[in-house]
Amino acid sequence: MKKIFLAISVVSMLYGPAFAVVPVDAETTQNWDTSKSTHFIVSFKKAPQEFIEQIINRAEDYYDKIAENLGFTRFNFWLWDNRANIYIYDNADDYRVSTKQPAWSVGAARPREKLIYTYPYAQGFFETVLPHEMGHIIFREFVGSDNPAVPTWLDEGVASYQQSLQYSMALPLARKAAANGTLHSLEKLTAINPQSITDTASAQLYYAEAISIVDYLIKEFGKDSFVLFCQDLRDKRDLQRAICSVYPFSNLQEFDQAWQKYLKK
Ligand SMILES: [Zn+2]
Repeated sequence: MKKIFLAISVVSMLYGPAFAVVPVDAETTQNWDTSKSTHFIVSFKKAPQEFIEQIINRAEDYYDKIAENLGFTRFNFWLWDNRANIYIYDNADDYRVSTKQPAWSVGAARPREKLIYTYPYAQGFFETVLPHEMGHIIFREFVGSDNPAVPTWLDEGVASYQQSLQYSMALPLARKAAANGTLHSLEKLTAINPQSITDTASAQLYYAEAISIVDYLIKEFGKDSFVLFCQDLRDKRDLQRAICSVYPFSNLQEFDQAWQKYLKK
């Protein structure tokens, strides 16, 4: 049990929370102070103003950066009533008790509802949870949050693509796996539920592969094509049709082979 917990915690610290967040009801937070920016409403109780300004700046910076990374800059989805909400608890204990998160958690999210939770100066939050969860929120808003055609590797790949440390580690790892024959095929990757992975090396490989596929699509074919692919995925709700209508492949097997060949270059 302890081993599994530790493994999940490593996956979660690197790639975002694996534990469901208990919804915080509006009544609990209705007397909280709020601070608003273009895309975010930050709610807090006793958090220092300096931290509130810092989190707004970081979140707005990531918003621009993620939209730029994915080619989504022409689309401005969350303004006014549609803004994302960030809740800042007073400290680690307040956060963990209220959101029912484990002791190591520094932040959590409910991407479908555009909610992010943390506490002041949580270690690593700005580098890990914030960009990862914002990546999920922005991507799902674009392709449809209940779209069954979106495979988990694509959702996790897009989210992890936004974390610079994970991104820099991903390509060398995926290339090494491609060279020594341990890379999962696209079909195998699709069958994996990352939340059930119990060892760090497998988790790192899963996310490295997911990031490398997103990187392949964006670097080889450009952001305009990636946007078209996301729009097709949203409208057609069929991964193979969306891939084949934008990219030069006639089925997912060809796409799989081309990605693996790209890693061996
Ligand atoms: Zn994730």
